[in-house]
Amino acid sequence: MYTIQPTEEQRAAVDSFRKFLESEVRPIAKEYRDRHIPKEKMREITQGIAEFGLPGASLPEEFGGMGLSMVTEGMLFEELCAVSLDIGLCVMINKGLPAFLASLPSEQHHLRDKYLADVLAGRTFGGACISEPDVGSNVADIKTTARRDGDHYIINGEKTWISNGHYSDWLIVTARTGPNSLTHFLVDRKEHGYETRNIDKIALNGQSTAQVFFTDCRVPASNILWAEGEALKNTMKIFEKARANVGMLSVGIARASLECSIAYSKERKQFGKPIAAHQLIAAKIAEMATKVDAARLMCFRAFSMMDDGIRCDVQSSMAKWFATEMAVKVCRDAVQIHGGNGLTKEFDVERLAREAIVIPIPDGTTEIQKLMISRALTGIGAFV
Ligand SMILES: Cc1cc2nc3c(=O)[nH]c(=O)nc-3n(C[C@H](O)[C@H](O)[C@H](O)COP(=O)(O)OP(=O)(O)OC[C@H]3O[C@@H](n4cnc5c(N)ncnc54)[C@H](O)[C@@H]3O)c2cc1C
Repeated sequence: MYTIQPTEEQRAAVDSFRKFLESEVRPIAKEYRDRHIPKEKMREITQGIAEFGLPGASLPEEFGGMGLSMVTEGMLFEELCAVSLDIGLCVMINKGLPAFLASLPSEQHHLRDKYLADVLAGRTFGGACISEPDVGSNVADIKTTARRDGDHYIINGEKTWISNGHYSDWLIVTARTGPNSLTHFLVDRKEHGYETRNIDKIALNGQSTAQVFFTDCRVPASNILWAEGEALKNTMKIFEKARANVGMLSVGIARASLECSIAYSKERKQFGKPIAAHQLIAAKIAEMATKVDAARLMCFRAFSMMDDGIRCDVQSSMAKWFATEMAVKVCRDAVQIHGGNGLTKEFDVERLAREAIVIPIPDGTTEIQKLMISRALTGIGAFV
């Protein structure tokens, strides 16, 4: 159960991670502001971060994780995202995959044994391929096909918006194996082959969001995860965790823009006093801080339920839409507090505001989260 106040252990873990981030990661994030971080460089960073527990902090020790709580992992993750959302997003994808691999049934342990340790150590990058050019919110419409051919499947199709896509050494691909059957395959770039191309966006170009192309990609049937036709059910389990994590990364950037705003409002003088002494700016700071705290608590509630083994799709969806939309507003207010300076590349709030706009879209848009929450509450779906 999450007790609101962090424990001594949590405080110590956060403090030492924060020191590492300030000395080792912030300078790199600054150097690569708005520029793609090459794979080798990203690998150096993720290997360093892995020493502090991400991506495997909450994974049980028997699988190579640290056996910490999801709440503690969330605290560490907020610190990372407050320093670099590019790196945070890359680590978040690698954070979602270990639990996926660890939960595979015994006949698929060869996949766990082959891929888990490297991703936990930050040496390799995975990704999850659901979205396609014509398939966004409606996941059930997936068109990428996997056709059985003896003891293999042949995958054909195009995926898009795939986080870590260009970095990826392997991907979990959702493909159609029948009219009503979607299946997860683990596809290895070297062994089975696929092409990737980065997508240029308004922000977050330091990490990789990519198109992925599968052309007669031949994958052994033993690389199916769980069983044929089980992808949709398992995708919902992934979303439960992913959505609270996307909420947490929004808390990270909103907190960063709040900290910038507090510092600037004390330093910048207009009408003969710091702008923090003007009541409308003071109110903005108070509102921003309250919203950041509210979003953080919602994320921690979802993580705490996960720690207790309680399914929390609704709480996770609430945390996701609230925190991501909160970050859009808070990061926008931070630009306003900085006046004209806030629009320039000299100040981080410009970048943070662009990053915030991106985050309500992945892992189910704000609209989709609200539809899911209301369906759970009323029992009536309003999707179509
Ligand atoms: C940075 C980033 C990273 C991503 N990473 C991944 C990844 O790793 N793997 C992956 O598979 N995908 C990834 N995605 C894709 C993401 O999941 C989709 O963009 C998202 O699901 C929305 O799909 P879409 O962009 O096609 O929008 P659409 O589904 O076309 O939606 C367009 C608009 O219509 C609204 N809308 C759609 N249906 C309804 C409805 N029934 N009722 C009301 N409104 C509706 C949406 O909310 C949205 O506002 C990523 C996207 C981004 C931006």
